[in-house]
Amino acid sequence: MNKDPGQFKGVPPPEACSDSVCAMLDRVGVPRDSKWRGLILYMRSIKNYDFLDNEQKEQLQALGMEVLKARDFSEAKFQEIIKANERILSAPWNLALTRTLQETASLVQEFQGTLLKHKGGVQKLEKVTIEAVESGGDVERMLGTIRRGFKEMATLIEEDAEKMVAMSLTDSLTGIHNRRAFDTHIEKAVVRAEAEQRPLALFMCDIDHFKNFNDQHGHRIGDQALVVVGSILKGFAEEMKQLEDRDIFPARYGGEEFAVTLFNIGKEEAEELAEIIRRKIERYNFVIRDPDGQILASGIKINVSIGVAELLVDCPGCGVAHLVDAADKALYLAKSSGRNQVRVYVRP
Ligand code: GH3
Ligand code: MG
Ligand code: MG
Repeated sequence: MNKDPGQFKGVPPPEACSDSVCAMLDRVGVPRDSKWRGLILYMRSIKNYDFLDNEQKEQLQALGMEVLKARDFSEAKFQEIIKANERILSAPWNLALTRTLQETASLVQEFQGTLLKHKGGVQKLEKVTIEAVESGGDVERMLGTIRRGFKEMATLIEEDAEKMVAMSLTDSLTGIHNRRAFDTHIEKAVVRAEAEQRPLALFMCDIDHFKNFNDQHGHRIGDQALVVVGSILKGFAEEMKQLEDRDIFPARYGGEEFAVTLFNIGKEEAEELAEIIRRKIERYNFVIRDPDGQILASGIKINVSIGVAELLVDCPGCGVAHLVDAADKALYLAKSSGRNQVRVYVRP
């Protein structure tokens, strides 16, 4: 830290000693080299330094007395005194830093308390920072420790934020995108389809007679049926992405209704794909298990009705709302025509 050991941190260079003081230093046996004399002169003139508080002045004067009394003018003693000097100089700063870090740590704790819990992480950060400051060691090392502590905490918070964003866009039951994710996605998909002059299709897919299903098998089993439909839609989208690089986005729209956007896919192909999905769900043999995993019933069927619509290219202002309405109308048609079928919206 001290490049020139004859010069002390934060302290103006000492004046050369007057004759009487030099004589006194000789008497005590202070070597004539500049660094010991410089140090003692600096300590003698402590009371003139305005930037020190009274406590610091007293401590430095006591340190000066200790030097004169000990009469140990070795290099090791010199280093020890320099370190003690630095500790006294940086004490108020350390105290302020400790207080600031304590306040910061409790703010982080408060902040974390309102989010996901990271009690352990916060306590560790608090401990690491306070210990680092109180140890009063090398400043660079101390700051390095504190910096690492804060980086660790920042990483935890970033991970939390990412998890929360993912959670806010995921349906907790089925694990697929939720309505919020769908609303954002379809807005963007419509803008992109219009800008790139590409088709955009939408399915509204609703489980048939699901109220009866719940009444017959109970809500817990009904929930499992929703998970099955969600995973069939998700699996289909992933397969289409992998095999043909198609951009299909399924989401739970609400209740037992799912919405699927199909980018760069026109009405005819969308109808074929909807039919594939409908058949996949129809063919699925739903198994009912007890909480221990034992099969209670198997071969239970779920059917869905699907309404298909396409973004109209020749209709300015026919955006998201129009597309969703059209798919809803097609779904209503599928329901009113006997369910378990796909119907495409036909413009009146
Ligand atoms: P339709 O063929 O006309 O669609 O008849 P439906 O019985 O499926 O339609 P309806 O709108 O009458 O009933 C929907 C049912 O879906 C009622 C509701 O209890 C059930 N449902 C909605 N969300 C959930 C859920 O999260 N879990 C379970 N188990 N059931 C749900
Ligand atoms: Mg239904
Ligand atoms: Mg419904």
